[in-house]
Amino acid sequence: MPMLTYSFGILRWTQSELDVLDRKVRRLLTAYRMHHPRSSVMRLYIPRKCGGRGILNAKDLHNREIYNLREYFLKMNVNMYRDVVAVDKGLTPLSLANGNWKRLKVESISDRITVWRSKEPDVDQLASVAWLRFSNLFGETEGFIFAIMDEVIMTNNYRKYILKDGTVDICRACYRPGESIRHIVSGCSRFANGEYLHRHNQVARIIHQQLALKYGFLDSAVPYYQYQPQPVLDNGHVTLYWDRSIITDRYIVANKSDIVIIDRSARRAVLVDVTIPHDENLVKAEKDKLIKYLDLAHETTAMWHVDSTIIVPIVVSVHGLIAKSFDQHLKKLSLSSWVKGLIQKAVILDTARIVRRFLTLES
Ligand SMILES: [Zn+2]
Repeated sequence: MPMLTYSFGILRWTQSELDVLDRKVRRLLTAYRMHHPRSSVMRLYIPRKCGGRGILNAKDLHNREIYNLREYFLKMNVNMYRDVVAVDKGLTPLSLANGNWKRLKVESISDRITVWRSKEPDVDQLASVAWLRFSNLFGETEGFIFAIMDEVIMTNNYRKYILKDGTVDICRACYRPGESIRHIVSGCSRFANGEYLHRHNQVARIIHQQLALKYGFLDSAVPYYQYQPQPVLDNGHVTLYWDRSIITDRYIVANKSDIVIIDRSARRAVLVDVTIPHDENLVKAEKDKLIKYLDLAHETTAMWHVDSTIIVPIVVSVHGLIAKSFDQHLKKLSLSSWVKGLIQKAVILDTARIVRRFLTLES
């Protein structure tokens, strides 16, 4: 693109030639499996920090450059420039002498931004798409994830309602009606205890390992997918439980959060619980967690002779959306915010893995 840009305004490009060029780029992306043929084209040209793929559009670059060059010549109050403008009656693609020149269309980001769906005020827009800027995923993985988000994966639901090929819309894994992409990534009962639990545990492991490092139970980190948390870690000051039911005097239904910290020096206990809901349940899921463990928090404060027990929900949606409150929760664990990116990447990769695995099942 930088090389092409030098030719804009000098060589004559027609709008359809530029369209052909942009199409060719998209065809290449598709051939290399980086862009699903049914995925949003618009998103390709949205900057990464706004949730797009950040690819440059040749036609827009050209049209913007032509406009800028014309402005430059027309505004320059120097004789030589005025002479150039006067003689350019179609000599250059800028057509400087043409008083009726019509500005070429440039798609602005705001024209395209409508594709980014979340209007939820509590969602952290920038953090939710941070994986596009910092995760260094393979182009193919990224393309697959967007195909999942765009719901253009060949599910039975897609075949029935979009392709209308007469497919019966029954889930090939749990045999219930409705094999939509949403069902696959977070709603299938056959996947709940295996695939979804695995994704959930990846996140819990990241948190557990960081806490174990912080409290000195570990000297060095291993990749989170190799990390096996110990059920109990204790050094006299701090106890760290992994996935352990807490026995209380009073019967409590929700008595098992993913991670429990008892910090005797700080006279504080922390209940950490992870959940990975669908996008639109992000904020609700967090509130639910806070309510769910209130009883347990009340009991443990008395039982462990601490001043308080706090509940820390760790919530990331299946597509990596993150709420604005996420940083505060990390802060309560004294973990720095880079952990957020690691968690988001782990969730997104696992969602892609779940869909890939699902699609290998016989339909
Ligand atoms: Zn199912």
